[in-house]
Amino acid sequence: MKVMKEYIEEAEKALLHTYNRYQVVLDKGDGVYLYDIEGKKYLDFCAGIAVFALGYNNKKYNDALKDQIDKLIHTSNYYYNVPAIEAAKKLKKASGMDRVFFTNSGAEAIEGAIKAARKYAYLKDGRTDHEIIAMEHSFHGRTMGALSVTGNPKYREAFEPMIGNIRFARLNDFDSVLANVTDKTCAVILETVQGEGGIFPAEESFLKQLKALCEEKDILLILDEIQCGMGRTGAMYAWQRYGIKPDIMTTAKALGCGVPVGAFLMTEKTAANSLTSGDHGTTYGGNPLAAAAINIVLDLFEENHIIDNVKETGAYLEEKLEGFVSRFDFIEERRGLGLMQGLVFDRPVNDIITKALDKGLILINAGTNIIRFVPPLIITKEHVDEMTAILEDCLENI
Ligand SMILES: *Cc1c(COP(=O)(O)O)cnc(C)c1O
Repeated sequence: MKVMKEYIEEAEKALLHTYNRYQVVLDKGDGVYLYDIEGKKYLDFCAGIAVFALGYNNKKYNDALKDQIDKLIHTSNYYYNVPAIEAAKKLKKASGMDRVFFTNSGAEAIEGAIKAARKYAYLKDGRTDHEIIAMEHSFHGRTMGALSVTGNPKYREAFEPMIGNIRFARLNDFDSVLANVTDKTCAVILETVQGEGGIFPAEESFLKQLKALCEEKDILLILDEIQCGMGRTGAMYAWQRYGIKPDIMTTAKALGCGVPVGAFLMTEKTAANSLTSGDHGTTYGGNPLAAAAINIVLDLFEENHIIDNVKETGAYLEEKLEGFVSRFDFIEERRGLGLMQGLVFDRPVNDIITKALDKGLILINAGTNIIRFVPPLIITKEHVDEMTAILEDCLENI
């Protein structure tokens, strides 16, 4: 059998060099553990970047997908299919939103949300120069529209010009939003908890001010729940913690738990006054296989009381991470909600992550100085203890 090193060499010859990958070839997973092709076991606190909420090799999930594969994988959106109808109904119920459009990724959900917001404003005043307010340090994906609202100039610069008329404000700084509102503003877009940009939760007061502003001026509030949604913060969608509701919401990552799916959802009012027949489409979006994944994921969330587990284990993880903050001078703070946590270091964390990987623990960063904890949502306190023991070992030798 080929060893890992040989596979990695082959990969580097064949694949475009867009990722700085860790030197591991993963082979299979079980529960919260992953195995590389040489049989080494890893405790996974990355979950495929907040994707595999239910853990690996979940029998009910696997069986549901296999059944659907044997029945029908794809039909196109020229026709109806039962799994997509069921998935839309379940997603409406889980989110409290009214209408669903299925996509294949998070970035595509953002593209749809942007188009819907522009169309909504266009139908009101016929102008074609509407503006969107996005947040600094945000991350919404790598396609051109999603990149345009991503508040990280490093990701954007080489690909300019972006789509036009985007203004950036600061998260949790309502005045900075106000300063950017004009009579052309059609939407404000933000992650309810910024993920990639460094695990920054939007504050309740900020969200409430935004909501009031949007209502007053008939601006659409778009909440990106692609990373922080699907139970990760201890609510199905993070905004549900705050008694506000977006006009448009995006979801993806854990929505299909590994099958590439996303969605954008709207209120009835937004839906009735934005995208209409012929305005938007996708070949794959909401195909029977993808929809079957969403259905079984939402079923298993209920059956396995995933959100209760997030609340309990999330609080425990938080406590352990706070312990690290008080113990190690080079850790500045902990930020996050539930099982979406960040530890902020006074230095780059890449060496620590590599060291942890050697010791059989998968962690990821968010920016250069932050270790991000986004484990499968089925983890237990024992797994948290196992993680903290390994991490402690890595930190003690700094
Ligand atoms: C990952 C992510 C995206 C992009 O999703 P893709 O599926 O990678 O296109 C958008 N927004 C947020 C908040 C994300 O975390």
